Amino acid sequence: MHLARFPRVFLAHLPTPLERLGRLSKDLGGPEIWIKRDDCTGLSTGGNKTRKLEFLMAEALAQGADTVITQGATQSNHARQTAAFSAKLGLACHILLEDRTGSNDANYNTNGNVLLDHLHGATTSRRAGGVDMAAEMELLADRLRGEGRKPYIIPGGGSNPTGALGYVNCAFELVSQANDRGLVIDHIVTATGSAGTQAGLITGLKALNSGIPLLGIGVRAPKEKQEENVYTLAQQTAEKLGCPGVVARNDVVADSNYVGAGYGIPREDTLEAIRMFAQLEGILLDPVYSGKGAAGLIDHVRKGRFTRGQKVVFLHTGGAAGLFGYDAAFAEARKALEM
Ligand SMILES: *Cc1c(COP(=O)(O)O)cnc(C)c1O
Repeated sequence: MHLARFPRVFLAHLPTPLERLGRLSKDLGGPEIWIKRDDCTGLSTGGNKTRKLEFLMAEALAQGADTVITQGATQSNHARQTAAFSAKLGLACHILLEDRTGSNDANYNTNGNVLLDHLHGATTSRRAGGVDMAAEMELLADRLRGEGRKPYIIPGGGSNPTGALGYVNCAFELVSQANDRGLVIDHIVTATGSAGTQAGLITGLKALNSGIPLLGIGVRAPKEKQEENVYTLAQQTAEKLGCPGVVARNDVVADSNYVGAGYGIPREDTLEAIRMFAQLEGILLDPVYSGKGAAGLIDHVRKGRFTRGQKVVFLHTGGAAGLFGYDAAFAEARKALEM
């Protein structure tokens, strides 16, 4: 297997750092916790979509596209990274934003990632929650083709076999970093949403025969559905890579017990995880993905599922730009006014 055979635009700051979280590990009193800093991929405040876009954008260029279309929730980090990548390549970018939370909050609707989408020159247009966003993107693409444009559609989260190659690459990178410093990884934990990150990672980990288990913490779908989505995409990714069948159904494990009321709605333990990482390690998580992923990690440690002496790597997928759309969720925002 040779990733260099796939077209790629080299743009991300790689390899991302692999760091030990000494104060968090001590506070929890369980395993040694490490962090893989995919919040530091470099593009417009970073995040996991940049790795996927390296492969997706290369495909867009190969097809002669002049315009990129994608979709996501209002505070989509994927949309922001796609807008920035498009700017870098001189492509027009149209983003369809689905209102998944029904929030009327001004910062949620215009600040954070939405502000950055526009700064990067993308156009956004809103759709009601529950609309068939893939169909909406096709409609827009048809209209643009009629105007003589050449649109390239990127699915939500950049999650298809091409995008997932970015996380096959991350698995290779992480295992190589661990090998180089004699770090034996007992478990990897990360947030899982549109499935490309977990599917690419598990495909890479299995293709390497690494023996490292991966736990996805769900942010939207129930466990069964999330695992099916990841498994299906992992199978397609393995086929694309030339190692069909390398991922077994039971390699795919998701825990959706930290979703709470729904996608994009933080729970109390989401906010606790964000505060712990901020105040023990100086690291910013987000209220939609990495905060829920970290809440899952912390709960598993507290319940003794990862134990002293083990080494657990939390893959930080980014998202902190979203904090500025979620200030209302934090009492800290009001405190600043009282001082
Ligand atoms: C998109 C995203 C995820 C989830 O990754 P998927 O590949 O969609 O499963 C996790 N964290 C952040 C910050 C994201 O933006």
